Amino acid sequence: LEVGVGRWLLMRCDHSFGNCKPDYSQLFINNEFVDSVSGKTFATFNPATGKEIIKVSEGDKADVDLAVIAAKKAFHRNSEWRQLSPLQRTALMNKLCGLMTRDKDLLASLETQDNGKPYAEALFDVTYSMLTLQYYAGWTDKFFGDTIPAGGFTSMTRKEPVGVVGQIIPWNYPLLMLAWKWGPALATGCTIIMKPAEQTPLTALHMAALAKEAGFPAGVINVINGFGPTAGAAISEHPDIAKVAFTGSVDIGRIVMEAAAKSNLKRVSLELGGKSPVVAFDDADIDFAVDTTHEALFSNHGQSCCAGSRTYVHEKIYDQFVAKAAAKAKERKVGNPFEANVQQGPQIDQEMLTKVLGYIESGQKEGAKLQAGGKRIGNVGFFVEPTVFSDVKDDMRIAQEEIFGPVQSIFKFSSLEEMIDRANNVQYGLAAGVITNDINKALKFANSVDAGSVWINCYDAVLPSTPFGGYKHSGIGRELGKDGLDNYLETKTITMKLL
Ligand code: NAD
Repeated sequence: LEVGVGRWLLMRCDHSFGNCKPDYSQLFINNEFVDSVSGKTFATFNPATGKEIIKVSEGDKADVDLAVIAAKKAFHRNSEWRQLSPLQRTALMNKLCGLMTRDKDLLASLETQDNGKPYAEALFDVTYSMLTLQYYAGWTDKFFGDTIPAGGFTSMTRKEPVGVVGQIIPWNYPLLMLAWKWGPALATGCTIIMKPAEQTPLTALHMAALAKEAGFPAGVINVINGFGPTAGAAISEHPDIAKVAFTGSVDIGRIVMEAAAKSNLKRVSLELGGKSPVVAFDDADIDFAVDTTHEALFSNHGQSCCAGSRTYVHEKIYDQFVAKAAAKAKERKVGNPFEANVQQGPQIDQEMLTKVLGYIESGQKEGAKLQAGGKRIGNVGFFVEPTVFSDVKDDMRIAQEEIFGPVQSIFKFSSLEEMIDRANNVQYGLAAGVITNDINKALKFANSVDAGSVWINCYDAVLPSTPFGGYKHSGIGRELGKDGLDNYLETKTITMKLL
C-alpha cells in the first residue's frame, strides 16, 4: 500500500480493521446505481468486529423484474452488445481487467472487510479473478460449430449465447465466484443478472462500477443485492431468464433447480458443497504431507467448497502425522485479517460460528480425540481456533457433513482398496487429493475416486483453464476451462438441401 491507489486508500481507510467506506451500496441496473423499488436496505457487517460496514439496497422481485427488462433489451439481436464482434467483447473484458489491476488494493480491502479473509489472500483472489476474466476474454472467437455432411443434406451447427442469465453466488469467495460466472457469460455474449451473497455484496458492486467504466453497454451486467428467498428466488423463478448458474449449498441448489424446472425449464448449473478426502500414504515425505493437508483444509478458514476436510493417513505414519498436524494447527496465526502474517481471520457470521462450534462439540461427543483448538477466540468477531481431531470414524457427523470451518478430521487407513471405498462413502464428490511418490497408487486412486477434481501431490490447484465441478451431490455441470462455456451456449443446427 505504498504507491498510487494504495496511498489514496490509506487516506480513506483505517486499516487496523479496514474501516474503508465503500463507494457503492445501491443496486446496479441498466448501468445505473439505483435504490430498490421498495426503498428497503440491509446492513453488511465486518466479521472481524461484528460492526456494520454500510447499508446496501435490498432488491427483491420488483428489482429483478427491472433488471431482466434491461438485460433482455441488451440481448436483443439488434442491440449494441449483440452487434459487437467477438474481439470487441475481448477488448471490453480486458479493459475491465485493467481497471481491476488499477483498483486491486481497493477491491482486496473491500473483500477483507466484508468477508474476513486475510488481506494477502484477498489480493490473491483479485489477481485470480482477473486472470479468469482474461482467460475467458480469449475465448470469444474460439467456440465453433461443425459442418456435417449427410447424403443430400449439409448441416452446420452454430454455438449461440443462451440469453439472459441469472447468477447466484455465495460469500466464501465473493469476487472469485463473480469472475467464474461473468467470464464465460460475457465471452459467449450473454447478459447477466447477478445476486451476490447477502453477507458480501461490496466487491460485486465495485465490479459493476468498473464494468460501466470499461464501457459495457447498459443492461449487459446487473447486480441485485438481496436475500435468497426474495431476490434469489425471483431469479430462479423468472420466466425470461434462460439459465441460472448457482453456487452454494446443496439444500438451496435443490430449491433453485426445482424453481427453474417449474418456471420455464431454464438451464441450470450447480456448484455445491463437498467433503473432500485427502490421502497421505506412508511413502510420502511426512512434513510435505502434513503441510499439504493442513493448507487443503485451513485455507480460507475452512470455508471452501473443495476443502480437504477428511485427512486419511496410512496407519504406519498415523501417530507421527497427528502430532505434527496438531502442532502445525496450534502455530496458525489467527487475528485481524488486515495484519501482516495473519493466516486466518474470522468465520463469516454468528450463524456459521455457531454451526462450526456445534460440529466441534458433536465430534467430541461421538468420541473423536481433540488434538488442537476446539474453542471460540474472544467474544468480538467470529474467530475459531484451528481445530484438529484424530481417531475420526467414517460414521461420525464430522466425517459425513460439510462443516465449512477450520476443523481438520484425521482418519487412519491401511490399504489403497479400503481407502477408495471409504473416500467414496459420502454424498459429495467435489474434489480429492493424494500424496504419494508411487504414481501407480496415485493414479489408481485418482481414477476411482468420485470427484470432479483430483490433485496429486498438491491441492486446490484450480486454474482458469481447468474444469471444476462436482460428482453426486456436489453439483451439475462444470465451470472454468472450455467446459465452462457450455453452460452459456445453445447449439443450433442449420440443415441445407442441395437442389
Ligand atoms: P447458500 O446456499 O446458503 O447461499 C448461496 C446463495 O444462494 C446466496 O447468494 C443466497 O442468498 C442464495 N439463496 C439462498 N436461498 C435461496 C433461494 N431460496 N433461492 C435462490 N437463491 C437463494 O450457501 P452459502 O452458505 O452462502 O455458501 C456455502 C455453500 O456454498 C457451501 O455448501 C459450499 O460448499 C458451497 N460452495 C460451493 C462452491 C463450488 O464451486 N462447488 C464454491 C463455493 C461455495
